[in-house]
This record gives sequence, C-alpha cells and structure tokens, in this order.
Amino acid sequence: MSVFRRSSPAALGNALNVSFEFFPPRSGDMESQLWESVMRLAPFNPDFVSVTYGAGGTTRKPTLATIERILGETKLAPAAHLTCVNASRDTVDAVAREFWAAGVRHFVALRGDSPDGIGSSYRPHPDGYANAAELVAGLKAFADFEVTVSAYPEKHPDSPDFMTDIDMLKRKVDNGATRAITQFFFDNDSYERYVERVRRAGIYIPIVPGILPVHNFAQLTKFAGLCGASIPDWLATRFEGLDKDPQTRSLVAAAVAADQVMDLVDRGVQDFHFYTMNRAQLVYAICHLLGLRATKGAGNLSSIAAA
Ligand code: FAD
Repeated sequence: MSVFRRSSPAALGNALNVSFEFFPPRSGDMESQLWESVMRLAPFNPDFVSVTYGAGGTTRKPTLATIERILGETKLAPAAHLTCVNASRDTVDAVAREFWAAGVRHFVALRGDSPDGIGSSYRPHPDGYANAAELVAGLKAFADFEVTVSAYPEKHPDSPDFMTDIDMLKRKVDNGATRAITQFFFDNDSYERYVERVRRAGIYIPIVPGILPVHNFAQLTKFAGLCGASIPDWLATRFEGLDKDPQTRSLVAAAVAADQVMDLVDRGVQDFHFYTMNRAQLVYAICHLLGLRATKGAGNLSSIAAA
C-alpha cells in the first residue's frame, strides 16, 4: 500500500461519501470537544452523523440530547444508535418512540454488549429483543425508519464461524436494514473477502467500512482484541516507539488511515464511516487528503448562526 496514488485527490473527493460517528459527552469539557468536532467536520457535508448509545441504555438521555442539538442547530442528518441491552421490548420501543417524536428517522440498530463488559457472555433481557435482527424488525414495525446495522469483516467474536455471522446480517437485512457499517479493521484484504462472502450470500446492501484513526496504539491493541479486530504486524511496526510521542503518532495515524481509505477506493469503495472519537483533527486531515473540501452551507453550524 502507498499513499501516493494515480488518481488525483480532487477526483477522489468528488466521488466519495462520508459519515461521522460521535459519542455523547459525559462532562462539560467533553461537550465542548464534541461540538468543536461537529463544527469542524460538518462542512464536509456528511451523508449523516451518528451518535452512539451506551451500554445498558445508560446514555439514552445524552444520546437524545446530542441528537436534538444536531437537529436544532445544524443541517446535518443524525442517526441514533440504539441497543437492546438490559431492556424489555416495551422499554426499547418507548425509546424509539421518544426519538421519533424528537425527529429521528434513522437508527443504527445494535444488540449491544453485556453490561459486564465486551467479551463477557451476552444474555438478552427475558422480555427483550434477543439480537439486532429482532430489533430491526421491531423498529420497522413501529415506523419506516432508515435502519443501519453492524457488520464484522473478521466476524463477531460470538459467532462460531463466518456463515453464522453472515446469516445474522442476512436476517437484519431481511427485516429491513438497508446499510451496514463495519467494525473497524486494518486489513483491507479481509474486508474484501468479507464483502465477497456477503454478496455470495445474496446480501446486496452497502457494507460501509468503519475507519478508526489510531489515536492511541497501546489502547487500540487492548480494545481490538475484545472486538475481534486483528492488528497486522505492519501497523504495530508503524507505531513502534511512539507511545510517548503523540505528535508524531498523529502524523503517522493520518497517513495510515488515508492510505487504508485510498486503497479501499482503488478497490471500488466510495462510502466511508469514520469513528471520530469526538476528535476532529485526524478525520479532518484524512478527509482533506482524500480530496474532500469543506463547503459552506449544508451542515455548517456557523452558517446557521450567521443566518
Ligand atoms: P448482532 O448483529 O445481533 O450479533 C453480532 C454477531 O454475534 C452476529 O453476527 C451473530 O452471529 C453473533 N451472535 C449474536 N448472538 C449470538 C448468540 N446468542 N450465539 C452465537 N452468536 C451470536 N455498542 C454499543 O453499546 N453502543 C453503540 O452505539 C454501538 N455502536 C456500534 C456501531 C457499529 C458500526 C458497530 C460495528 C458496533 C457498535 N457497537 C455499539 C458494538 C456492538 O454493540 C457489539 O459489537 C455487540 O457485541 C454486537 O452487537 P450487534 O448489533 O453487532 O449484534
């Protein structure tokens, strides 16, 4: 892989669609960081911005508050993540109704992880949705939400094999999901192989790569193990010796992520979802390298303020 491509960044930028993921803030400082990031990235006119949902429904209010602010103060199209963790169907349905009333028309529908932590065995609520496929059906029965779901190029750790994993994706699609965003990955070959398997299984929705810029390699390695995402040796080599050098790390991270995305573009991918971690700088740099340019207008908070 190389960052130097035949296609010009400008040509790339015109053909690419991006979306950005944020998480709800847990403090005043985090709130400012979130909104600075939203403001910085909004001018790239993302297809949508998504807001995550905490384990056990613990962030229902902050997720809703963040979405309401996005709807009230920007022209961005928000998508609310929603999980089934520790909640009956009635509770989840009530949350969906509340989000609908607030103006949410797009959900990222997920099963979620055990409240004991990622990797602990998942037990559905006795009266709850057992998995994301059931949740998708529940949401679609209530209203014609746009529904995005998860996908796992290296398979979900709970899945005994790829076919079980892809079978779950198929159930989600059969129940009404129209887009999947992948777990983060660094090996583009595994993504390509996965998409081939998915297509062979008769699933034709977009499988949008979830791109995670590496802010902290040491933390990433711990987290990736729990999520079933592999860390290739070449990635470890690139961050070797940089644990105490955040400035160089972020330069390397931007190059690595841009390289990954450009390689995916070369393989025909045009839609990308960025896990921003509420930090705009790296994602901004990557989008810029890809030829995307900030435009005034849609999605731009300052344009609203100026109006
Ligand atoms: P599902 O699609 O229901 O299942 C995932 C896989 O596990 C399936 O492929 C299936 O084969 C296997 N599986 C499920 N149940 C069983 C079982 N009983 N036995 C055997 N195999 C089984 N988490 C949050 O808490 N909040 C978020 O906002 C959030 N956002 C996310 C966004 C994206 C794009 C992604 C990829 C993940 C996100 N997660 C989030 C993490 C997600 O909740 C976990 O990965 C969770 O473990 C699985 O949820 P899911 O919807 O993918 O589950």
